[in-house]
Amino acid sequence: MMAVETTDVVVIGTGFGGAIPGYYLAAGGAGVVMLERGPRLATEDFTHNLQLGTFTRIVDDIRGDGVDVIAGNCVGGSSVIYFAASLRAPSFVFERTGTLGRRLWPASISRRALNPWYRRVERTLPVSQQSWDDVPYPGGVWAAACARAGHTCNPVPVAVDLARCTNCNWMVNGCRFGAKRSMLLNYLPAAEACGTDIRPLHEVQSIGPASTSGYRYAVSYLVLDPDDYRVATGSGTIEAKLVILAAGAMGTPVILQRSAAALGGMPAAVGRYFSPNGDRVTLALLDEGKVTELLGLERAPGVAYEGYAIGKPIGSMTFDYLDPSAAEFTRFSLQQIYFPPITNILPEDGVDAAPVWFGVDKKALTARWRSWLTVLAMTEDANEGVFGAPPPSGNFVRIAPAAGLGQLAFHTAPETQRGWDASDAAMKTVVEKDGLARHLLWKGTPNVQSAHPLASCRMGDDPATSALDDQHELRGHPGLFVTDASSVPTSLCVNPSLTIAALAERASSLLLRRAGEFGLGVRPRVPPPGTTDAMRRRRCLHPA
Ligand SMILES: Cc1cc2nc3c(=O)[nH]c(=O)nc-3n(C[C@H](O)[C@H](O)[C@H](O)COP(=O)(O)OP(=O)(O)OC[C@H]3O[C@@H](n4cnc5c(N)ncnc54)[C@H](O)[C@@H]3O)c2cc1C
Repeated sequence: MMAVETTDVVVIGTGFGGAIPGYYLAAGGAGVVMLERGPRLATEDFTHNLQLGTFTRIVDDIRGDGVDVIAGNCVGGSSVIYFAASLRAPSFVFERTGTLGRRLWPASISRRALNPWYRRVERTLPVSQQSWDDVPYPGGVWAAACARAGHTCNPVPVAVDLARCTNCNWMVNGCRFGAKRSMLLNYLPAAEACGTDIRPLHEVQSIGPASTSGYRYAVSYLVLDPDDYRVATGSGTIEAKLVILAAGAMGTPVILQRSAAALGGMPAAVGRYFSPNGDRVTLALLDEGKVTELLGLERAPGVAYEGYAIGKPIGSMTFDYLDPSAAEFTRFSLQQIYFPPITNILPEDGVDAAPVWFGVDKKALTARWRSWLTVLAMTEDANEGVFGAPPPSGNFVRIAPAAGLGQLAFHTAPETQRGWDASDAAMKTVVEKDGLARHLLWKGTPNVQSAHPLASCRMGDDPATSALDDQHELRGHPGLFVTDASSVPTSLCVNPSLTIAALAERASSLLLRRAGEFGLGVRPRVPPPGTTDAMRRRRCLHPA
């Protein structure tokens, strides 16, 4: 009989939620194996094109019923493809009560309680505060439009080494300049330096009880073919004393649902309460003459660095609609964001009829692409997403590179719609003032589009509506922890990565202190990974 492989800790997934505890536990002295479904790419492997087989290796677009979600599929997870806007969530978010009418976050977590962990991540990544000189042209247009409409607008802090950034605008492909501070440049190499074994193309299927004495859980995986992730070339099981699930908000609940029978049941909140972070993109079609006349901005023809398609995708945002005293479901941020040309199909063409992807009006709209200003609203949603039964293997049914059909259903609740109506109205007021632009909705698909999946295995104090306790431990399953975006209870009104990372930092510190309970002999305190880059840092501008 083959001996079962054992290790102290198995971490599933290598994004923020996996890399951070993976590092701390390894640095504390535990043996750590990290299983990652996607491939491993280095800085020089990232490309600058949209061909199939290049960026499609590392990105997944998962289509559900009423929602499409984009997420990373590689070592480093979504931190490799993300746009690196790094913001602390406003204080009121932690006090939200949602449609349940009672506090969604555990009583032990507030903005103030999370501030030290936010600070630690900001230093470790590190995060840089952009100045207006660092903000690309569309960020300047958005800021000038906000100012003219009587609103403040701030340059966004980003996890980017601004001295290395070339403003190439290919962040979704992975950064080939080593400027974006993904997990590939900090926590993961630090974890490996402490002996962590990172295994790419290992897709975890389920978790069951261990058969070896002294070990708690058996993690089963398939080894995937690097050229076709639908094909398995092997399989295996590792037993561990502690398991950390960090397969992202689209992966973690599916693994747990599939494991329910073997583990003797799952909390009811696993796979429920999904939040797309209230993401809503709309478009301002700018009148270039008015941009000059009203905002005093001009783009000289042929000056590449003043083009829309050039620059960091996220430059500026307004916090003015994050009023803590306003009613829940009416608060949001509005952030300038750039999307690749593939999204040309999504905005409405301005014609009062059913949405179309093609046609004369759409052609006229796309011909003016250089005058598009896209703005992302991040609102308070109602956590209405629910996962159906898991597929036979994997997190979703893969139909092509970078494309899959998921089991997630999202039927927009009136409270969520109220937030989107409010953010649409605010955006329209800003951009249509004195005819500066025409506001268009994103109607090319009926599905909600999100790059910020959250809350599908959330933490909280109420066992009926939260799968995890306030230490990220899965209720009823000691030694099984969830530290990724799925643990965040609800939408944040800002981009979520810094909060996910701060929570993972906090959870890691708790895990180090509790490791003895799980038979691990580790040091209770471990310093964060050091940063070697001399980076330009200013105090970051966050909502209060
Ligand atoms: C295009 C894009 C732009 C974004 N821009 C920003 C931004 O500017 N600011 C911001 O704050 N946020 C941004 N986000 C969101 C942010 O990247 C995510 O919220 C965050 O990275 C999620 O971290 P995570 O650890 O929960 O999950 P992930 O980083 O997604 O990590 C999950 C990992 O688990 C792996 N995995 C999944 N299933 C399995 C399995 N069965 N077995 C083994 N491994 C598995 C995945 O391949 C992945 O590596 C963006 C996201 C996208 C897609």
